[in-house]
Amino acid sequence: MHGLKFPRVSLGFFPTPLVELPNLAAALGEARIFMKRDDQTGLALGGNKTRKLEYILGEALAQGCDTIITAGAEQSNHCRQTAAAAAKLKLECHLILGGAEPDSARGNLLLDRILGSHIHWAGDHRKGEDIPQLFEQLKSAGKRPYVVPYGGSNELGAIAFAEATRELLSQSGAERFTHVVFASSSGGTHAGLMLGKFIYDQAYRLIGINIDKDETGEPAFDQYILSLANRTAAMLETEHRFSTEDLVLASDYTGAGYGVVGELEREAISLTARTEGILLDPVYTGRAMGGLIDMIRTGEIGNNDNVLFWHTGGAPALFAYASELTTDDRGESPA
Ligand SMILES: *Cc1c(COP(=O)(O)O)cnc(C)c1O
Repeated sequence: MHGLKFPRVSLGFFPTPLVELPNLAAALGEARIFMKRDDQTGLALGGNKTRKLEYILGEALAQGCDTIITAGAEQSNHCRQTAAAAAKLKLECHLILGGAEPDSARGNLLLDRILGSHIHWAGDHRKGEDIPQLFEQLKSAGKRPYVVPYGGSNELGAIAFAEATRELLSQSGAERFTHVVFASSSGGTHAGLMLGKFIYDQAYRLIGINIDKDETGEPAFDQYILSLANRTAAMLETEHRFSTEDLVLASDYTGAGYGVVGELEREAISLTARTEGILLDPVYTGRAMGGLIDMIRTGEIGNNDNVLFWHTGGAPALFAYASELTTDDRGESPA
């Protein structure tokens, strides 16, 4: 595909497995459910950011940069995968994390520390508001910093998911997906999968489950995804431009907000674990699977459908959500 002309460094194991989940499907009805295991990309416990970083850090190396800056929440999977990639590529890594330093480092934060990243605490600035300031500071100190955008969601990150669509289609046989469902949060995965669907001429319904409640809405998340998809299309020299009808963003499952675990996530995590032995995460894939389960129960996804759930990773965050995911001292989940 066109993405081949962009420099790419190898950071993960691809293709990731494509598996069917017959037990989970049987627990819900008659639709078939498949899963693309991007939780198994292999980079320091994996996740969808590994794909994006292969292109984004490919550019950083091509530009001769020696220091990486990125930002996210305390339990950011993106920051953890960036820290691992930087270690492997011998780049200094600076992470700007939202909130204040907790008493003990758990889950992804523990891994960020083990991976040797430099951590800066940013209070309520969890989306990279403080990046420009740190960039100037590191530049004055003689470094050659490179900014990986929040969530790795720029054109290069999206190209990685257009390429991932090609990978998926090369693995799938006669099943022909009717729906592709995934967690959508910073927009790169969504924009890339929209492009992939277009480039490879697929008819499935592509449904992003919105993870964040729209807080400031500047610009609204759907407009952001659309604009990123169109900027990436231009970069790939396709004439095609997307419009609002091409974008499906399900915003009914944001519950009490980003990172707040509710009954929807608890049930999805528990059911997937107990039927398939597969771990989802409390922030993204637990919520997205909760949305998929709801769509099957309400009939929006029907008996004859073949659904692909894109597992985008995140399970290391489970270890930071112990109290939200268990109700008694035997570790029994309430679901
Ligand atoms: C980042 C992330 C997502 C969302 O991907 P975006 O490209 O940021 O929308 C989904 N799931 C997990 C586990 C993630 O870490």
